[in-house]
Amino acid sequence: MKAAVIGTPVSHSLSPVIFSFLAKQVGMPDFHYTSQEVPPSQLTLTLSEVKADPQYVGLNVTLPHKQAILQHLDQLAPEVKCIGAANVVHCIEGRTIGYNTDVLGVIRTLEDHQCDVRGNSALIWGAGGASRAVAYALGKLGATTVNILNRDFDRARILCAQIGETFPHALFVPILAHDETPKITTPLSLLVNATSVGMKTDWIFPIDKFPLLPGALAFDLVYNPEKIPFYAMAKIKGLRAVDGLDMLIYQALATWEIWFGPLEQAQIPQERLRDFLLNGRQSRPFFLTGFMGVGKTRIGSILAKKLGWQFVDTDRLIQEEIGLSIPEIFETKGEAAFRDLEKRAIMKVAYCQKTIISLGGGALMDLDNLSLIERAGDLIYLSASVSTLLERLSPRASQRPLLAKADSPNESVREEKIRALLELREPVYNRARFKIETDHRDPEGIAEAILKRVAKGPRGKS
Ligand code: NAP
Repeated sequence: MKAAVIGTPVSHSLSPVIFSFLAKQVGMPDFHYTSQEVPPSQLTLTLSEVKADPQYVGLNVTLPHKQAILQHLDQLAPEVKCIGAANVVHCIEGRTIGYNTDVLGVIRTLEDHQCDVRGNSALIWGAGGASRAVAYALGKLGATTVNILNRDFDRARILCAQIGETFPHALFVPILAHDETPKITTPLSLLVNATSVGMKTDWIFPIDKFPLLPGALAFDLVYNPEKIPFYAMAKIKGLRAVDGLDMLIYQALATWEIWFGPLEQAQIPQERLRDFLLNGRQSRPFFLTGFMGVGKTRIGSILAKKLGWQFVDTDRLIQEEIGLSIPEIFETKGEAAFRDLEKRAIMKVAYCQKTIISLGGGALMDLDNLSLIERAGDLIYLSASVSTLLERLSPRASQRPLLAKADSPNESVREEKIRALLELREPVYNRARFKIETDHRDPEGIAEAILKRVAKGPRGKS
């Protein structure tokens, strides 16, 4: 089974992290989730490839395809028809169905925070795709008035007209934001930030200028709210405030249930997932890459001991699972089979926290591995010159399948082989977040150098 998030840019998406975490949680080691950069010009082709591949259970769709995807789908859920945007595709029996799970993400977040909008008024900043999902959710929950503030007034007006058609009991009111604080007289039970306003703006959300019901909730859809003034401002003003992380998790759980059916209560890892997304960054694994013989296993174990983390060597994991040595696997099953086993081993351990993972020298040549590793943790490249590698590999070259053929008494043959392989692999090794030179250093010194280097550089990409 496989699934992917498609969009451009897609590198910031947390979906691969969340869905790989869920697969591990429910015991689906063969579920393979990737992220795919898909520019608008390739959307049609991507969709036809996905439809033709029976292994695909679905897609997550992010900017800029949430609207454009609709024309490629066979069926649309009612909320998608109203909102005009889908964030999830379910592939079933050769057909594709579009859903918008952001709506459920909003509803469940509001329920969790006992924010009752039925018969009350709310205000949403922003009139983009996310705002549409919130407005739909509020209509569904029975809000009487939904004010939509946006700097592009026309966008707010169109949103109100379209969502309003589905919920005639509610009043959807477009308001021009920014110019001055608009007059809103009905006390609000909910304020929502559905803009992509960042820290660079000098505009301040005039949260305290609106009449609020006691216990009103400020809901910031952004899930790294320390970077956004709305959530911080709400907290300063003493309001109940919630960030977008719960919504993100709820929409992912809803997606999972569309693809695979209901999760059992015991399998719903809401708290653990939240904790993982919030605190897991400092505990995310380090992956050690570099040419065979550079010392990844030795250095990795020292590093793990120093940090009090566990150590995993993917080659060793494969050997234990198959009961054969790496040269034996190459000999009896071939390199392709080994690469497949290696991919599974990496998927199995990629989201283990507080773990140092030593990778085989060729593991990153598979771009799926590279993409998973870059999302799950931080990659460290242990580099060495050809002469150092030659020296370190000499006594054991026959145990390295890719060098075995070059295991001749003639050192220049081995040197040539190492040089050629290194040239091929170095561009991917150089994708690492940290590069550590290992020439003329002992393993202990290299482990120390890694710790110093890592302490200096920021961890975590979002
Ligand atoms: P979008 O379609 O691009 O809409 C962006 C909205 O932000 C528009 O209303 C835009 O106003 C407004 N905006 C942008 N810069 C602004 C500025 N400097 N001042 C005032 N308004 C500004 O984006 P979206 O998909 O709706 O996403 C909006 C936010 O929700 C994003 O931060 C996204 O990460 C977040 N989100 C969170 C979740 C979750 O699960 N927590 C899910 C979906 C989205 P104009 O129309 O005037 O340009």
